[in-house]
Parts: sequence; structure tokens; C-alpha cells
Amino acid sequence: MKEMLTATRMATVLACPRKHYWRYEVGLHAVTDGMALRFGTAWHATMEGRWQGLAPEDALLAAVKDQTFDEITVATLVGLLGAYYARYADAEVVKELHAEVEFRLPLAGSRTFDAAGKIDGLGVLQDGRLALVEHKTCGTDIASDSDYWLRLRFNQQVYQYVLAARALGWDVQLAIYDVTRKPAIRQKQGETASEFGDRLAADAKERPEFYFARREVPILDQDLAEFEVQRLALSKQILFFRAAARSARRPEHGWPRNCGEMTCKCCEFERFCMANVSVDVGNPPAGFRVGAANPELAGM
Ligand code: SF4
Repeated sequence: MKEMLTATRMATVLACPRKHYWRYEVGLHAVTDGMALRFGTAWHATMEGRWQGLAPEDALLAAVKDQTFDEITVATLVGLLGAYYARYADAEVVKELHAEVEFRLPLAGSRTFDAAGKIDGLGVLQDGRLALVEHKTCGTDIASDSDYWLRLRFNQQVYQYVLAARALGWDVQLAIYDVTRKPAIRQKQGETASEFGDRLAADAKERPEFYFARREVPILDQDLAEFEVQRLALSKQILFFRAAARSARRPEHGWPRNCGEMTCKCCEFERFCMANVSVDVGNPPAGFRVGAANPELAGM
């Protein structure tokens, strides 16, 4: 069976080949995701509920029911969600949404990889057009003239999903980015989590453009064509590093480390990778386990 080449896998090998080695060659995973990652996953789930017409309480419940969160994270979700519902109270963008559409399709030109993933949402807009719906959280400026939107102009994940959607019979012509900025305000001394949630909701309702933005982005054929070239190049890059690992003293040495503040400070492998210690796969470092490379696509 072929391996799966997901958008996250491509982004990982681009950011740091060594990180790709730990995650996708060894299958190393942190036993417990960090709170920031869990917040992003939970927010994503609330958005899925919101776009499918759930009330705020039900969208929140669906997002947190299978995970444990600390008080302040729940308060942050509640505060932001209340403001989000208020912000878009009259804006039903889609009349029909298909959420979490999994795909696994042959990757032309590769004998090793299939293109795979899970599309957040495929929507039929009120005017009948078909769109990819992407919910994103970020910690940077999302004003209409910010660089954030320029970076989204070439988004590998979106192109991977558009190509898959079209192969599945959906003639998607645009992407809708539904972006939420993570709060910059923090809990004050003596303030309860609930009071913080209320203060956050009030702040987000007072200046919604700071926290929330939506934009339609057309899908251009030339960008799709560029992405297909890049995707195949990255698939070959993985095979190149893998071959280098076979003749290296330690296999991870075949996968270059991209040590830098931007890459390492958010990397779950930083603790042992920065010390350049050897990892015994049969006895992973404390806090890690070895498992499937793509657990989110375990059924494929
Ligand atoms: S800690 Fe840095 S060098 Fe090591 S895998 Fe992570 S990003 Fe790469």
C-alpha cells in the first residue's frame, strides 16, 4: 500500500526535514497535545458546529466533550464563541455544508505516495457556487491589508483539498477563509476564569474586526499547477532524505535539522532534538509514544 502525503506532511518536511523524520518516519507523537494545539482543535470543532447550524452551547459541547481543558481555555472558547455568533448573527454563508470529507487519491507521477487528507468543509453557497470552507486560528494581524492574506494566497492545504474535491466531483472555484485571531488579552490577577471569559467576549464584541475576518479567495489554475509541481517535488525530497538516512551513521542524520527560533520553539520534539540525543524507537522518550504517522486518517 502507498504512503499518504497530506498537506501537513508537506508543510512539515518544508519546515524541518528532521521533524518530518520523527513524525512520519518514526511515528513519534507527544502523548498529550499542548493546550494551544487542543484549543485550535476545539475551536475548529465549534466552527464546524456553528456552520452546521448548532446553537452556541451545542457547538461548544461537541468541541469539548472528548477532551480535558483547563478552566481558562474553556472560558476563552466561551468568550470567543459568544462574540463570533454575535458577529455573524445574520450571515448564513452556506445553504449546505459537507464537513470532514476524507480523501485518498493517486498522486500522479509517484509510485510511493497517495494524496490524502480531510477537507474541513465543502459548502454550497447561497448563490449556488461551490466553495472550500477553511476555518483558521492565528496569532497575527488579520486586518484586510495585513501580510496574513498574502501568505494565504499560496496555501498548500487549500490546493490539496481543491484538487481532491474536484476529483470527487465537486467543481470548487473558491475558498472561504473564516479566520479567528487568538486573544491577546490575558487573565488578570484576582480575575476568575469566568470573569475573564466575559471580559474577552465584551472586547471581541466591541472590536470584532480585530478578532474575526472572512474572505473569499478565487482558485486560480496557475496556482493549482504550481502546487502540483511543488507537491511532486516534495514527495521526491522525502525519498531523497530517506535514501540519505540509509547510509548515515544514525538514520536521523539523513534528515537535516532546521534549527531556528521560528521552527523549534513550537516543535514538540525540541526537548530531545536540541540535545541531539539518539532515540530508541522501542523505548521512546518520556512523554512520547510511537504510532501511526497519520492517526487522524487511521481508517484510510
Ligand atoms: S527541534 Fe527544531 S531542528 Fe529539531 S525537529 Fe524540531 S524544528 Fe527540527
